[in-house]
Amino acid sequence: MARKKLIAGNWKMFTLSAGAAQLAKAVADELTADENLLVAVCPPFPWIASVAAVVKGTPLLVGAQDVYPAKEGAFTGEVAPEMLLDAGASYVIIGHSERRHVIKESDSLINEKVKFSLASGLKVIYCIGETLAQRQANETNAVLEQQLSSGLAGVDAAGMANVVIAYEPVWAIGTGVNATTEQAQNAHAFVRSQLAKTYGENVAQAVLIQYGGSVKPDNAKDLLSQPDVDGALVGGASLKADSFLAIVRAA
Ligand code: PGA
Repeated sequence: MARKKLIAGNWKMFTLSAGAAQLAKAVADELTADENLLVAVCPPFPWIASVAAVVKGTPLLVGAQDVYPAKEGAFTGEVAPEMLLDAGASYVIIGHSERRHVIKESDSLINEKVKFSLASGLKVIYCIGETLAQRQANETNAVLEQQLSSGLAGVDAAGMANVVIAYEPVWAIGTGVNATTEQAQNAHAFVRSQLAKTYGENVAQAVLIQYGGSVKPDNAKDLLSQPDVDGALVGGASLKADSFLAIVRAA
């Protein structure tokens, strides 16, 4: 079965309002509808609604970078799935390494976010990946297995239709050192084999598995041509329309 590809830009904590709108418009203006290629941008919370307004009617989708697992309530500073949907987001990134390692999010909070977001109607980009020390200690597959089972605990096969996995080796994020095509393909094939164990081969074959970590125009084509690499989660290179669009075209 042919899988679509998803190229998503993770803007992290960059852009101000005018720059966010310009960047989104510059990307959206160049996109043509392609049923095999999904393209999304994930701006900071304050710009989600304005970016969604700018890209309305274009193929460009909007995502958020985080979410809190509750409908509403006394959770100062947090943003609910329903608010993201209302603002025009359809995706949310969960489990990004910066949230795991810098913000110190726990596996259980990440799992709550995944489950609650899916139940609320958001599509989830669930990020996993090993640190350099873990790779050097030959623990990559064990880490991926643990992050898949903890983060997706309680997600059933039907729920997996709205989950994208992003394999992002921590050592490749923002470093300029991308995984080799072989490292990426091996990790993606392992992830798919783990999904097959839990959800069966049909579900595993349908799940999109993105690669993330120093994806740039000059390495995108090789990475994206690997059989189990179904797209890219792009940080730094998504902040310039030209480089992001070059990656989109490589897909
Ligand atoms: P990068 O970030 O492309 O700047 O390495 C990727 C990510 O963190 O999602």
